[in-house]
Amino acid sequence: MQTINHWIGGKPVEGVSGNHGPVVNPATGVQEKQVALASAGDVDAAVAAARDAFAAWGTSSLAKRTGVLFRYRELVHAHREEIARLITAEHGKVHADALGEVTRGLEIVELACGITEKLKGELSTQVSTRVDVAAIRQPLGVVAGITPFNFPAMVPLWMFPLAVACGNTFVLKPSEKVPSAAMRLAELAAEAGLPDGVLNVVHGDKAAVDRLLEHPDVAAVSFVGSTPIARYIHATASAHGKRVQALGGAKNHMLVLPDADLDLAADAAVNAAYGSAGERCMAVSVLVAVGGTADPLIEKIKERTAALRIGPGDDPASEMGPLITAAHRDKVASYVHGAAAQGAEVVLDGTGHTVEGYEGGHWIGVSLLDRVTPGMDAYRDEIFGPVLCVVRAETYEEGLALINASPWGNGTAVFTRDGGAARRFQLEVQAGMVGVNVPIPVPVGYHSFGGWKDSLFGDHHIYGNDGVHFYTRGKVVTTRWPDPSDRGVDLGFPSNS
Ligand code: NAD
Repeated sequence: MQTINHWIGGKPVEGVSGNHGPVVNPATGVQEKQVALASAGDVDAAVAAARDAFAAWGTSSLAKRTGVLFRYRELVHAHREEIARLITAEHGKVHADALGEVTRGLEIVELACGITEKLKGELSTQVSTRVDVAAIRQPLGVVAGITPFNFPAMVPLWMFPLAVACGNTFVLKPSEKVPSAAMRLAELAAEAGLPDGVLNVVHGDKAAVDRLLEHPDVAAVSFVGSTPIARYIHATASAHGKRVQALGGAKNHMLVLPDADLDLAADAAVNAAYGSAGERCMAVSVLVAVGGTADPLIEKIKERTAALRIGPGDDPASEMGPLITAAHRDKVASYVHGAAAQGAEVVLDGTGHTVEGYEGGHWIGVSLLDRVTPGMDAYRDEIFGPVLCVVRAETYEEGLALINASPWGNGTAVFTRDGGAARRFQLEVQAGMVGVNVPIPVPVGYHSFGGWKDSLFGDHHIYGNDGVHFYTRGKVVTTRWPDPSDRGVDLGFPSNS
């Protein structure tokens, strides 16, 4: 059986823990590989490699860094099909979707290629007589990144390209369920000329994460994952004096106003609720149907899902793949089973779905729950599966109040033809990313991604300008080249003249 090892100091390393975790193909339910699980000692080795590499990389020229990144962009692009296949084999998502996440991840590499623009700094000349002030930004040192299973390539690419472009070195701890894409990304970085130790990958579980959170040589932690773990990461790493950005889970609402194009809204709801089997932090999981739109929308969603093809992600005919684990599939099913008892109407029940020839896969079909209310489990929890809840609201105000009462605030969307209503919504809604007739408003790489409330702990969103700020710290230099006539002792507080 293939073993996936760590990547430390520019080469694969077995590690000393001797522990391994299973890597399962979700379409078959069969363990095809195993992954090394790092001990604290293995993490220490990766951090030491990163710390040693920082001495040269942190002072390397911008020309050298961008040269590597431009080559890296081309290499990842050239290998995108191969990376997508690795993602499908371990995550289960369909090939086109896996390819899409590599492309979205490349946006951040492209942003990193232009780091020269972002690190220009600021200069004020003659702030006082013969005095200039320069504001510069410098790297932090060793940065750790901890990533979730649902985007094995894109979320790591949200982090390390920008971090290393800023002059940091990096230790990535990908999800142990989907380790191969991150390894391939690290190998390609080495091929692009990234010096050994600048990017390291350690696989592991809580033990590895905890060591990163407390390690004295780790300056900052970027985390993306579920809300309880994000909260824990933020509290623990902060307590150890580190800069932290911890992006958490979500329950994204889509508000459909009576004047919306309901065909467009139904397309959007189906794509955003059931794409990637609902395992996206920006998936739409609640459709708030305003003023009589619920019945026609439900009919249109049923029409569109009737022919949906569920199957293995490497079959080009499949539109939706399996869930990540059997346990997760059973948990998702339990929300559908429990919904009727709590008063919801189960319009579509996707539980019990099977795929011929793939009986061991973690399958579930699409579910649609109507007349859901905020007290129900299916509304309250992040289900992270292909389950769409419909909540009926009489008015815009009622729908908005529901969304704003949610403890999460990742993404949200409004569907309408009324520019005034859309403008009101974007100003009044409490969420970090808003779509107007766009159901999954993931910002492009040169803007920043992040939610509000329990969807993000810390004060920096990820990538874009916030990413550059997170991976650097500011310094302001005040310079004076005195003229001989300026001599003289003056104990007063310096003021400008
Ligand atoms: P998770 O929180 O279980 O795991 C994320 C990472 O944390 C993994 O690397 C994992 O090994 C590690 N981890 C898990 N338990 C830990 C513990 N007790 N202590 C320390 N580390 C631990 O998340 P997941 O199931 O891999 O991913 C799905 C979740 O991620 C969903 O909640 C989804 O909404 C969220 N997500 C959020 C975003 C975002 O941008 N806000 C993006 C993608 C996914």
